[in-house]
Amino acid sequence: MRNIDDAVKSLQKAVQFRTISDTDMEQVNFKPYEEFLSHLKETYKEVYRRAEVTWINKYSPVFHLQGNKEDEPVLLLGHYDVVPVAEGTKEDWLSDPFGGEIRDGYLYGRGTLDDKNQVVSILEALENLLQEGYMPSRDFYLAFGFDEEVGGSLGAKEIAAYFREKDLRFFMVLDEGGAVMEDVLEGVTVPLALVGVAEKGSSMIKVTAKGEGGHSSMPPEYLVTEVLGKALLAIASQPMEARLTGAVEAMFQGMGPHMGWKGKLIGNIRTSFPLVRKTLEKTPALHALIRTTITPTVVRAGNAYNVIPQEASMILNARILPGDTTEDVLRHLKKIHEGLPVQYQYLVKEEASKVTDHEGEAFSLLKDLIHSVYGDAVILPYLMAGGTDSRKYEELSDNILRFSAVRMKNEDLKRVHGTDERISIENLERMITFYRNLFLHFS
Ligand SMILES: [Zn+2]
Repeated sequence: MRNIDDAVKSLQKAVQFRTISDTDMEQVNFKPYEEFLSHLKETYKEVYRRAEVTWINKYSPVFHLQGNKEDEPVLLLGHYDVVPVAEGTKEDWLSDPFGGEIRDGYLYGRGTLDDKNQVVSILEALENLLQEGYMPSRDFYLAFGFDEEVGGSLGAKEIAAYFREKDLRFFMVLDEGGAVMEDVLEGVTVPLALVGVAEKGSSMIKVTAKGEGGHSSMPPEYLVTEVLGKALLAIASQPMEARLTGAVEAMFQGMGPHMGWKGKLIGNIRTSFPLVRKTLEKTPALHALIRTTITPTVVRAGNAYNVIPQEASMILNARILPGDTTEDVLRHLKKIHEGLPVQYQYLVKEEASKVTDHEGEAFSLLKDLIHSVYGDAVILPYLMAGGTDSRKYEELSDNILRFSAVRMKNEDLKRVHGTDERISIENLERMITFYRNLFLHFS
């Protein structure tokens, strides 16, 4: 039997392989990927022995563990690629980001929260159970991506295609995402376990203004930079409509009773929305939950001090709320830019994900499992502003849930993709117990 020390050692080692993905995957050194995968194989022998392992695109293992019933299988996701350490920040770390060192009860390193912790915890839990003679009552699949951080087109997307080919439907797909947050909002007195039931879409639109160039000593009446500037200002001053979607409404309603007197308004968000909207808009993380945001990210014009550019352009990142579409965004832009000679082109078109029912069977099972590890947490659905691999599996299940069983403070969020990423040994232990209970639920 493996114990927590073995699990810690396994994660320490896992962190040491520099499985850094890149938008250009051709540039990636796959040696650490291979070493990481050998590490799993050497460590989780019983899982490899009992499950059928299929390799997708060489680096994504899909484990299939057969149950003894005909029920829809459960799919557990994770990824083992990591983001690099941002240039110039390595010195800020307390420990080597790829050292896997332990300090004061924390294991430091890239991937300890995102997302090698998940891969290791799932395998730890299953390895032990199999050693104890565990027989799942339905099929389980585990699938680990190797390019999640750069979009998942080689890993998750191909794994999903493989499942489609096999005509599989899942009772539940569980991926990384929310966590148990201790201080998510000022005034909330209990830890909140936030379970992602949907993801916003992230689309890129290029807006271009074209005109005549010339010498800046004799400016024409009409400048492309002015046109683009007006277009930009209109976006800032005329945002898309703020509104409540089901999951966000349920989240606020559930928070309200744990916020003291302040909670009255939040708890009754449906009626108080016109009132609290302005307050929510002031906090970026909350603002993101109530609106499709459109943000200029790359703005370009001109390349010489004294030449009038013929073209000015900007790229807008639209983060789309469930219920809105890329078409709605375009319609909105055309409306607020009426009379401005600009053209639009979608560079990336991604709609919001489907929304999982937070009153459904899978969510309620997850609630029980979270309570088994975090008895004091209030469990709420929420909308994710960022993306995960789980989006690729949309067609394969009605119940896609995004949750990592770790307990965190707000300040820990910036460790993800940031400096001093770390996991407490306690958290690792709770994650393993969480997955153990999940497997045991189906036995
Ligand atoms: Zn991740």
